[in-house]
Amino acid sequence: MTVICRFAPSPTGRLHVGNVRTALMNWLFVRERGGKFILRIDDTDLERSTNEYEDGIKEDLGWLGLNWDHTFNQSHKFPAYEAAANTLREAGRLYACYETSEELDRQRKLLRVQGKPPVYNRAALDLTDAQKEAYEDEGRKPHWRFKLSGKTVNWTDMVRGEQSVDTSSLSDPVLIRGDGSFLYTLPSVIDDIDEKITHVIRGEDHVTNSGAQIEIFEALSDHLPTFGHTPLLVWKDGSPLSKRLGSLSMGELKEQGFEPLAICSLLAKIGTSDPIEVRPSMEVLKDEFSFDKIGRAPARFSDDELLLLNGRLLHETSYETVKDHLESLNVGGGEAFWNLIRANISKVSDTAGWSTVLYSPMPGQIEDEDKAFCIAAANCLPDTITDDSWSEWTAKLKADHGRKGKSLFMPLRRALTGRDRGPEMGGLLVLLGAEKAKARLRGETA
Ligand code: GLU
Repeated sequence: MTVICRFAPSPTGRLHVGNVRTALMNWLFVRERGGKFILRIDDTDLERSTNEYEDGIKEDLGWLGLNWDHTFNQSHKFPAYEAAANTLREAGRLYACYETSEELDRQRKLLRVQGKPPVYNRAALDLTDAQKEAYEDEGRKPHWRFKLSGKTVNWTDMVRGEQSVDTSSLSDPVLIRGDGSFLYTLPSVIDDIDEKITHVIRGEDHVTNSGAQIEIFEALSDHLPTFGHTPLLVWKDGSPLSKRLGSLSMGELKEQGFEPLAICSLLAKIGTSDPIEVRPSMEVLKDEFSFDKIGRAPARFSDDELLLLNGRLLHETSYETVKDHLESLNVGGGEAFWNLIRANISKVSDTAGWSTVLYSPMPGQIEDEDKAFCIAAANCLPDTITDDSWSEWTAKLKADHGRKGKSLFMPLRRALTGRDRGPEMGGLLVLLGAEKAKARLRGETA
């Protein structure tokens, strides 16, 4: 069996970490099985959907490396949805309702006061043709509900195991609004049938939906996908992500300098039994992916962890890979520079600061009590710096001045870089060169 999965975003905003995680789970599963990944654009809400958001979604998925084999828009399929709605009407599974939203609200409140679940009372099923006509004459337009069976729907979920939804505890879902527009529920089922989707992988906020949608699948075809509902993504302290989603959009993370592979590594590993580590490629993430590793607890997203993984990824990244990015930031220095400082940055943009340290004039930073020591150090620094110069030079300074450890190394680091921490000094000294190093050690600007 060829695995066919879909990712179905609504183009009403940019992708954020929550929906990227869903996309990633689908993609990893499909690619691991050699199947097909479909990008379905859920744009039935014509007012809120925009072409800009659709383009943004495609750009973000491309940037992340989540390529798709086929894409289509739900807005191009309205005739198919109308046809399916007619099939359901003819089978007595789709019925017209005329309640206004205020009337429905009042009914729900009343049921709550009585301590009953706010389930729709199906009064519309008893309407006579004359009553319906009277409503239409009043100017009311019907909305259409799917008649649930009232039975319990069972399925074996890829993540949650045995699941059951008692449809007698649910309101018959509205499939078509009074203005004739489709809610998400029916088009999604029709597309999953048409595209022969084998696995529907989505967040656990869709579990109840699945109960109703399985009945719609059964009413329309013999095709029923396997379902997998992944635990929700929450903020690191357990609070909902909802308020932060703007800052966690792909547009924003890209802007902030996060690498796609760091984002995908984190989103693929949180909430699983694997350690949270940056992985060298999407290929490796794919090979390591399994639904068996996904736990039932919410997955916690941490921006600190993302920054850490981003840094770790850069530590292993070759110059060839970042060359264009460095050039776009106007950071000079080439391969030797990159290899030296990559272990000391969290984002590629951090290279700018180190490029300034190495290649722009800067006064040496020297405490009063270290002045004489630094001048002496300048005087005995060889004119030609090699890979061994740092160790030979500091060995001599140690012997001559009786300094060791921090009191030996820190004044030199500060004088040469202006910072307390940074790359390995031997390599840094080579890039800095003797002339600049000597001047800075004398407190001059060089
Ligand atoms: N557009 C729906 C959503 O974003 C798709 C849900 C599904 O995967 O079925 O919630």
